[in-house]
Amino acid sequence: MKPRRHAEVIKPRWKVWTLPPPVLTYLLIVEVTALAATALLAFVEPVHGVDLLYGAALIAGGLGFAEITRRVERLRKQFADTPHVNMSSVWTLSAALLVPPVLAAVVTVVLYTHVWLRTWRYMAGHTLYRAVFNTCVVLLSCYAAAGVAHLLPGDREASLLEPAGLLWLAAILTVYWVVNSGVVAVVIALASGERTLSRLLGTRSENGLECATLCVGALVAVLLGSLPWLAPLVFPPLYVLHRSVLVRQLEYAATVDQKTGLLNAATWKSLATKEFGRAAPHGTPVALLMIDLDHFKTVNDTYGHLVGDEALREVAGVLRREVRAYDLCGRFGGEEFVLLLTDTTADHAVAVAERIRAAVRELRLTDVGTGEEIDGLRLSISVGVAVHPDAGDDLEEVLLAADNAMFVAKDSGRDQVRTVAGRA
Ligand code: GH3
Ligand code: MG
Ligand code: MG
Repeated sequence: MKPRRHAEVIKPRWKVWTLPPPVLTYLLIVEVTALAATALLAFVEPVHGVDLLYGAALIAGGLGFAEITRRVERLRKQFADTPHVNMSSVWTLSAALLVPPVLAAVVTVVLYTHVWLRTWRYMAGHTLYRAVFNTCVVLLSCYAAAGVAHLLPGDREASLLEPAGLLWLAAILTVYWVVNSGVVAVVIALASGERTLSRLLGTRSENGLECATLCVGALVAVLLGSLPWLAPLVFPPLYVLHRSVLVRQLEYAATVDQKTGLLNAATWKSLATKEFGRAAPHGTPVALLMIDLDHFKTVNDTYGHLVGDEALREVAGVLRREVRAYDLCGRFGGEEFVLLLTDTTADHAVAVAERIRAAVRELRLTDVGTGEEIDGLRLSISVGVAVHPDAGDDLEEVLLAADNAMFVAKDSGRDQVRTVAGRA
């Protein structure tokens, strides 16, 4: 019988008290603001009979879609390590446009409670306080979007059907996105010290999905307001969109090394084999660079594994910067990288290798905790260069030659480039 996961591991745990004080304070500010705004707006803009019909339609659509895509949603969330875009903004943005804010809040809370109960609470690390915070962020985004919609002249629904409605919708979507992403980015920055835009705001693909989701949300609002019987037409494209994003995430996870973002060894090998197949009939030179970090064990032992990981990411960054977009950069093993340079002669490959070696020596790592440069930490690499057809006929032969050259570089004192023929 398969061992079952211990219930404790998958049960939601309320670990909010373990958060650093600035993060906790920020969460509370966001949540109190969302609650206060909801109470105030409930008072200012009461709900009418027809609003309830729209609200019910949005809740039905949101719950139906969430049930149909539950497995896809779960897999996507497991694979995403950046801010995860869930597609409920189709319904929450529509609610912001169509119904009074307090009803938009009801739609949001029902949909987020549902996704929490059905999906998130079974996933490790997805604590209840995160779900509460996410819900509050969505409430604030809805209120900001509704605030822009209120500026529309005359009858709101009729104005959206005019040509200028497109500009208004673009403004409303932008405000929704800015509030949503901005509030989340601040909490990520506070909690993890992250400063890279893709970590704070999500990858381009996640943001593309969010943009597409919001556009569908705008269409749902316009359709429900004018041609409600056509609204179900949004389901098929929404479903296909959701699945295609999962496929992209799975592809990425299967081909890319998670730590460095370079190709993983298997993918690199298969692409490199194809490149050899293309080059061989024409006698085009193909250069391989085998790169190994020097004394990396000492880096780990002295500064810790997290700094070691940071070093690997930085070196990967150098490789990406120093080669052309169509060259193949792979992480071969722990601290070994391999590069394939298409249509590159030995002299040129050695020049590239020297450039990379110099750039690695220039790298300065910062302590993630303090943000300060780590004194005394200098990285260096040993590089072996081998070029097809001189060094071998197929990928395996040339790889072996590059590997041998790399060991010659190690034996000669490290921090140098060697080719199979001898000194570079
Ligand atoms: P040499 O100059 O001869 O290459 O010495 P070295 O210390 O770099 O080589 P060795 O093969 O002895 O050690 C490689 C080290 O790389 C050991 C291992 O802990 C470390 N390493 C491998 N993968 C990772 C990783 O993903 N993260 C971190 N931080 N360290 C890793
Ligand atoms: Mg090694
Ligand atoms: Mg090494």
